[in-house]
This record gives sequence, structure tokens and C-alpha cells, in this order.
Amino acid sequence: MADLLYFLGLTKGRAGWMLLGTVLAVLVVGLGLALLGLAGAVAVGALAGGAWLLRPVALGRSAARYLEKLTTHEATFRILADIRLWFFDRLVPLVPGRIGGQATGGLRAGDLLSRLVGDVDALDGLYIQLVTPSVVALLAALALAAILSAVAPPVAVAVLLILALAGLGVPALTERAGRSAGLEQVRRAAELRQQVIDLTQGLTDLIAHGAVGRALAEIDRVSERHGAAVRRQAVIAAVGAAATQMLTQAALVAVLLVGVAVAGGAGEGVGPMLAIGAFVTLAAFEAVAPLPLAYQMLGRTRAATRRLREVAEMAPTVTDPSQPLSPPKPLSEGSDIRLEGVRFAYPGAVRPALDAVDLEIEAGERVAIVGPSGSGKSTLFALLMRFHDPDSGTVRVGGADLRALTQADHHARLGVLSQGTPILAGTLRDNLLLGSPEAGEASVARALRIAGLDRMVADLPDGLDTWLGEAGVALSGGEARRVALARVILRDAPILLLDEPTEGLDAEAERAVLAALDEVMAGRTVVMITHRPAVTAAMDRIVRIEDGRLVP
Ligand code: ADP
Repeated sequence: MADLLYFLGLTKGRAGWMLLGTVLAVLVVGLGLALLGLAGAVAVGALAGGAWLLRPVALGRSAARYLEKLTTHEATFRILADIRLWFFDRLVPLVPGRIGGQATGGLRAGDLLSRLVGDVDALDGLYIQLVTPSVVALLAALALAAILSAVAPPVAVAVLLILALAGLGVPALTERAGRSAGLEQVRRAAELRQQVIDLTQGLTDLIAHGAVGRALAEIDRVSERHGAAVRRQAVIAAVGAAATQMLTQAALVAVLLVGVAVAGGAGEGVGPMLAIGAFVTLAAFEAVAPLPLAYQMLGRTRAATRRLREVAEMAPTVTDPSQPLSPPKPLSEGSDIRLEGVRFAYPGAVRPALDAVDLEIEAGERVAIVGPSGSGKSTLFALLMRFHDPDSGTVRVGGADLRALTQADHHARLGVLSQGTPILAGTLRDNLLLGSPEAGEASVARALRIAGLDRMVADLPDGLDTWLGEAGVALSGGEARRVALARVILRDAPILLLDEPTEGLDAEAERAVLAALDEVMAGRTVVMITHRPAVTAAMDRIVRIEDGRLVP
């Protein structure tokens, strides 16, 4: 319950829309009661002159129903958009340490996608299926009680007992029954999504290892389980709907039986009143009918809210200080780097990934970091980018402990070329301006020239506006690397962190990138992970790291 209230709290900004939707829903049921009540009265001749009223009330009810659907859906979409933005805001500070990059112990892309899309969507029921119908059903029950009491109090008692069964008893049962199926449904949907993403991303390797069949079988298995949960939900929903239907009929019978019994032999005038009572009872049960399904879905909604909260309340690995130092002006002032007694272990790791690391890099110096795989090179970069803080010791840039600066100020002086060199879906220009959106045409042209891309751009169908990424022109590994390099050049940052800038390139492409790098590195502090001799030759100093320690 706490989870649901927590998420209802997030919808406060849409209170106006929700209120309007609920008022309209109440109006619809109110007009429904009036319509059936009137119809009953007219049918038995109790209100012969009122027949003309039927048409405007029926039309009004339809109009109100239309407006209600419009409003409640609008409210729901706005709420979902709010929650999605809220969740995204919570994700951003988690990105460095807990999501993607080197965080193998952190959250996976498919899982996050499931939470951001599937789990947020599961919350649509929160308002439209739960809050509004509950309010409407309660008001309908009160109206029914008032009307039936006027007809005959014993009739009111009998019908309200049955209504309580339909509006409280059945939903309570479906809620219980739907709990585990809902949880299973959410879990399996997330698992399925993760597996399909793994399959598509790792397809080349799976084919090479002849493992596609096995991967597909595994997807089938999870899909089957997801399907079973959905089927179980359908059965519960059907049983719930049938129970509500039967209780509605039982209520009608009760109106007539109890009504006749109360009237006894004397009741000449009760007939019309009973007819009105029967019709009004029908209308009230209609208001209660959506509740079993709504409460059945509560389990699913609750599972989704829990998964969202899990991530939203994760503590970031690093946080900004409350009173940060102001960044150096100009940024190029203070681009020297000092690591003093740095020790860092990943959460849960037995051995530290870095230990007793002392390293001084002067402003403008070019340092190559070499060492076997798993020795701690990427971890060193992660600390230099402040994705993690050291467990002990300090990382200083320009004399300031990184913990004393905001992440944004620190990142503003970094130009990073990572191994992944991601090309995002967008135009070449979007990709180039990623880290420096305000760069002008002249800077772009210069960066393209240094990165050796000017000829390629001239050959592209739409030049800088050519669409890249999955749906666009595919770049070769060397071209993608050079786009990433041009991105770094445009950033014009005083400190460069380069992770294997020529990895995976053939000799010719490597030469081209190296030539470009030489110009890019001029006047900057450079730390570069590499094991290529051709690259280390261009550096001032080589630092070797083994098992998390610097080797003299
Ligand atoms: P390199 O970049 O030199 O290959 P890393 O810095 O990636 O080495 O890894 C150093 C050590 O830290 C290795 O033992 C590796 O298994 C471990 N490690 C790296 N990333 C993580 C992580 N996100 N969680 C736990 N351990 C990690």
C-alpha cells in the first residue's frame, strides 16, 4: 500500500485533471441512475408526463461518458509522462557508477528499459482503473441506499448486502488471486525483454557458437511462463466478471422478492416503486462492475511500483558536495593530475582494483597507461572521471580534490574517447556536437579536418546532415573512431582521457588516427590507455600498472 500511495503522491501535479475526470465519471453514473430510474417510472406509468426527459438524459449521459473517457485518458497519459520523467531524473545520477560502462554489477540496459517502459505503463491502472472507479462505486452505493430506503428499507438492506459482496467481496478475492499472477507477469515480461535484447545484441557471437537455438529455446520458455501468467489473469478476470453478473441478477431478484414480501397483500401502489428500485439497482451494479478487474491488477501495479522504487531510491556512487569549489577560470588552468595513496575496491570485491596508487601528471604532459587486462586501467579512468570515489587517498585535478567539485564542473574539462566510441542515432552533426552543442561551423570544419573526415563527409549523401546509427549510414570502425575523435576535438577540453584510441583499427586507419591525435594532444594533459607500441612512441612517459599497483 505504501508503494501505491508513494506513486499517487507523484501525481499531485495532475490533481485538476484527475478531479475533473472523477467528477465526470460520477456524472455518468448519476445520469445512468436517473435514466434507468426514469425509464422504470415511465414504464409503469408512474411518470407518464416525464417520457420526454428520457432523451436529453440519455444524450447527456453519452456526452458525459465521452468527456469522461477523454479526460481520464488525458490525465493518465500526463501522469505516465510525469512518472517517466521523474524516473529518468532519478536515473541520471546513477549512470556513472551503477549503470552501463564498466558497472558489471550494476543494472542492465534491458532491465532498465523494462522498468522505464513496461513498469511505468503498468501504473496506468492506478488512477483510471482504481481511484476513479472506487470513488464512483462508493457514491453510486450511497445513492442507491438513499433511493431504495425511500422505496422500502428492507429492500435497501437486502440489496446493499449483495452490493457489498459485489463491490467489496469479489474485488477482495480477485485482488488476492491476482497477486502472484501479477508479480509473475511483471517479472517474466522484464525477463523476456532482457533476453530478446541480449539475443539481438549478441547475435553474431551466438551464431558463431551455434547457440542461437538454445537462446531461442530459453526465450520460448520464459515466453511460455509469461503467457501462463497472462492466462491465469484472464481466468481470474472472467470468474470475477461472472460473479459480479450473478450478484447483479441476485440483487434484482432480491428487490422483487423482498419488495413484494414487505408490501404484503395490501400494497397496491408498490409496483411502480419496485420497478424504479429494480432499474436503479441495475445502474448501481454497473458502477461496481469494473472493481474486480481493477483490484485484480493491483498485484501487477504493486510489483511495478516496487521495481521502479528500487532503482529510484538507489544511492548514486558519487554525489556533489553541498558547497562546491568554483571551477578554475579559464578551465585550462589547473590541468595537472595527482593521485595520492589511492585505493579503491568495487562493492563486494575481495581485492581492491587499485591499491596504493601515487601518480603525478604535470599539466600538458602525455602519459600512457599500460598493463595486462584486468590490472585496473579502466578503473583508474573511472576514478579520474569521478564515476567512483577512492576508498582512501585522493584524486586531485588542478590541486582540488575531485570530491570538492561538482561533477559537471569536473566533466567540463574532460575530453573522453572511450573504447565503445558510440555512434548515436541522429545526424553526423548531432553526433559531433554531442559534447559542445554551441560549436560553430568553422570549429566543426576544423575538427573534421584534424580527424581526417573531411573527405568522407564530402562523399556522404547529405553531408553533415546524413543520418547515422541503426537506421542510417553505417560507418566503418575507423570512421566511427574518427567521429568520436572529432567530438573530442570540438570539446576543446584541457584534459584528454583516451582509452585505446586505435584499438581494432588496421595499420592504415591507425596511422591516420595517430596523425590526428598528434595535433589534438598538443598543449593538453593526456592520459591514454594503450598497448600499441606505435602509440606509446608519441607519449612523454609510460606508466605500468599490474594487479592494481603501479610498477616502477
Ligand atoms: P583493465 O581496464 O586494466 O582491464 P579494470 O580496471 O577493468 O582492468 O579491472 C580491474 C579489476 O576490477 C579486475 O579484477 C576487474 O575484474 C574488476 N572490475 C572491473 N569493473 C568492475 C565492476 N564494475 N565491478 C566489480 N569488479 C570490477
